[in-house]
Amino acid sequence: MSSREREKRQKFLRLMFQQYYRNHAADIDTPDRLHMREFALETWEYTWRCTRRAETDASGQTVYVGCGRKGTAIQRPSVCPVCNSPTVTSTNWSRHLGFRTAKAMRSELAARAPHSVYHSAAFYNIPVARDMQEKQWQGAELVFDIDADHLDAPCTQEHDSWVCANPNCMKTGWGEPPEQGCPSCGGLEFHRRKWICDRCMDDARRNTLRVYDEFLVGDFGIDSDQIVINYSGHRGYHIRVRDPRVFKLDSAARVEIAHEITGVGFDGNSVVGTTLNIPQAPARSLAGWGGRVVDAIVNLIRNIDSYEGGQHWVSRLRRNREAIIAGLLKNPPEFWRGAGISVKSWREIATVAVAMYGGKIDVPVTHDVHRVIRLIGSIHGKTGFVVAKLTRESIEDFDPFADALAFGADNLRVRVLGGLLEVPRFRIGDELYGPYGDEVVDLPMSAAMFLLCKGVAVLG
Ligand SMILES: [Zn+2]
Ligand SMILES: [Zn+2]
Ligand SMILES: [Zn+2]
Repeated sequence: MSSREREKRQKFLRLMFQQYYRNHAADIDTPDRLHMREFALETWEYTWRCTRRAETDASGQTVYVGCGRKGTAIQRPSVCPVCNSPTVTSTNWSRHLGFRTAKAMRSELAARAPHSVYHSAAFYNIPVARDMQEKQWQGAELVFDIDADHLDAPCTQEHDSWVCANPNCMKTGWGEPPEQGCPSCGGLEFHRRKWICDRCMDDARRNTLRVYDEFLVGDFGIDSDQIVINYSGHRGYHIRVRDPRVFKLDSAARVEIAHEITGVGFDGNSVVGTTLNIPQAPARSLAGWGGRVVDAIVNLIRNIDSYEGGQHWVSRLRRNREAIIAGLLKNPPEFWRGAGISVKSWREIATVAVAMYGGKIDVPVTHDVHRVIRLIGSIHGKTGFVVAKLTRESIEDFDPFADALAFGADNLRVRVLGGLLEVPRFRIGDELYGPYGDEVVDLPMSAAMFLLCKGVAVLG
């Protein structure tokens, strides 16, 4: 896309977002203790600054590089747009913002109509201070991010893609970029295009429900009234625990909670015991992972064909799959002795199974007590979808491709940029669109906005 097309697209998206923020003020969530939250905006344009500094050249002379100017640009500048100096720095983030009232927050959003809107999970005495120390942290909600990115859904291979960043190469492929580098030029940098479909969004939803039901409500006993769930606007869901008892937890305590959920550090030795040298399967009635480990092992065995580990027990599990599962599904569960698997192996199997079966959360999001999280009711700039507030009941039937749409039904003509790599099929409401090559199409606004936000189309 040319920079002219890029600029037109950005202006259009911003106008559309502006219209949304003006007309949907009531749908924008007001986080509680609003005046104690830091807000952050991801803006459409980049703010750049060219530092002027003294350098010594090869002959020992002092020379000055950089012009000291600043400005905005529609794309991240790699050199100063004025003097071509590499001393330019740029950002598309505007941080350390704060609002005293919901009205002030809404009018700022309507005025700026940013690409994305975030606020701190933390409460600060001075949220607008530029320095973390000066902000005076007073506590933070406990936040979980469940994202299709971390779920390895098989559909990623079908709809995510990459382009080699080397402008002379531009090799393309589906799935994750090759770890060993571009097969054509050996380059290690890629532009990635991530996509979403019903399959990976269902995976994300299922995981969200597990974290909510099994861990937060089940193991930790958190009152469901104190838990807020929302669709992220893109590839996943967020869970925020608003129980004041968690606010003061430090980063180390949050890491422990995250590890309890993911099963990292679980030790099979602690739950697989023996009676007369016969390995005993742990009862389902045990608290926490002890009671869940049998289900985790059943899950591992059901998926043993795709398990890539080389332990000697793998072939035994494969060969005796049905009999072992039948034993584990009994009450109380039993390790089937005919498999000839030792207690040491069952402990290893338990450890591996728990790591695979654990809740799939993005751990750094939970442990970072300064993290910002999307504002509920705002629009996600990579999709044009609403960051939708949900409940434990409403998430069951929630359809991101129908229930998170922000824009009306008028049609818009866009030119899809599918020449290098076709744009995968997607669904909006009951309609399927694509796949598209390089072509001009008339689409309902939400579908057109999705392609524009995804960066795979320009105004037609
Ligand atoms: Zn400059
Ligand atoms: Zn290449
Ligand atoms: Zn998918």
